Amino acid sequence: MDSRLKKPGTAVITGASSGLGRIYADRLAKRGYDLLLVARRSELLDGIGQRISARHGVQVRTMVADLGDAKNLEAVAQAVSSDDSITMLVNNAGTATLSPIAKIAQGAAEAMIAVNITALTRLSIAALIAFKARDKGTIINIGSVLGFHTTPLSCVYSGTKSFVLSFTRGLQDEVAGSGVRVQLVLPATTATEIWDVAGVALSTLDQSIVMDPGNCVDAALSGLDQGEAITMPSVNDTSLLTAYDSARTKLYAGSRTGKPACRYAHVA
Ligand code: NAP
Repeated sequence: MDSRLKKPGTAVITGASSGLGRIYADRLAKRGYDLLLVARRSELLDGIGQRISARHGVQVRTMVADLGDAKNLEAVAQAVSSDDSITMLVNNAGTATLSPIAKIAQGAAEAMIAVNITALTRLSIAALIAFKARDKGTIINIGSVLGFHTTPLSCVYSGTKSFVLSFTRGLQDEVAGSGVRVQLVLPATTATEIWDVAGVALSTLDQSIVMDPGNCVDAALSGLDQGEAITMPSVNDTSLLTAYDSARTKLYAGSRTGKPACRYAHVA
């Protein structure tokens, strides 16, 4: 077969029924990927799948699943494990509730942890095992700039995205030198439905900081093409990320003393 005609395989995209996931689906189909689209809203998934298939001539399958449900999650993990055509996983599904923690709706914190952490972890493991066995494949984990910043309204959401950041960096170390690729994408404020879900109207935000979701995904895929491990679509000055990473590494090294710090020496 002419290698120029070789298909890139199947991309699994979670949270493909809206926002960034729906755009990833379009852009990856344009690159020739067949798709497995995952979300809860079946009519949206079906419509998106049909339009993408007609536009780009790729095969699109859908899987209706609540990633906050253990059985549904396991079914998606099994689909990722058992399909040799899968060469990419975009762990994009996410949910947010922005609220003071003492006033947060019952179950909202747990829902964020289940989707943003538990599902992303389970699916990353399923993909990692399959991709390592073939020494080929790409995992894209969607974190957030709130992974290194928190506010009184976002402590659980920020906590879940801090997990995505640390977990994905660890995965990157684990696959270093192999044919498996892991990209961490850290979007800032982007115009998607998640703001309605979170209980904050987008219209109340400073519009100059809100990114178009198409621009966000196009930048993230450009970062992937450029071989970036961490892609921050809205950040111009990449030295900020280098400085952050360097401070993180120095702080960790500075903790490896085995002794109480001098300022605690007077405690009896
Ligand atoms: P979105 O439009 O609300 O999309 C979220 C997607 O996740 C939807 O397709 C939704 O599908 C799916 N999802 C949510 N809960 C689910 C569940 N229990 N089971 C299965 N699927 C579920 O928001 P988005 O902004 O595109 O979010 C995509 C990712 O970007 C998220 O990880 C988010 O945290 C991250 N992010 C967004 C921003 C931003 O400002 N927009 C900034 C930084 C990071 P169903 O409702 O059909 O299930």
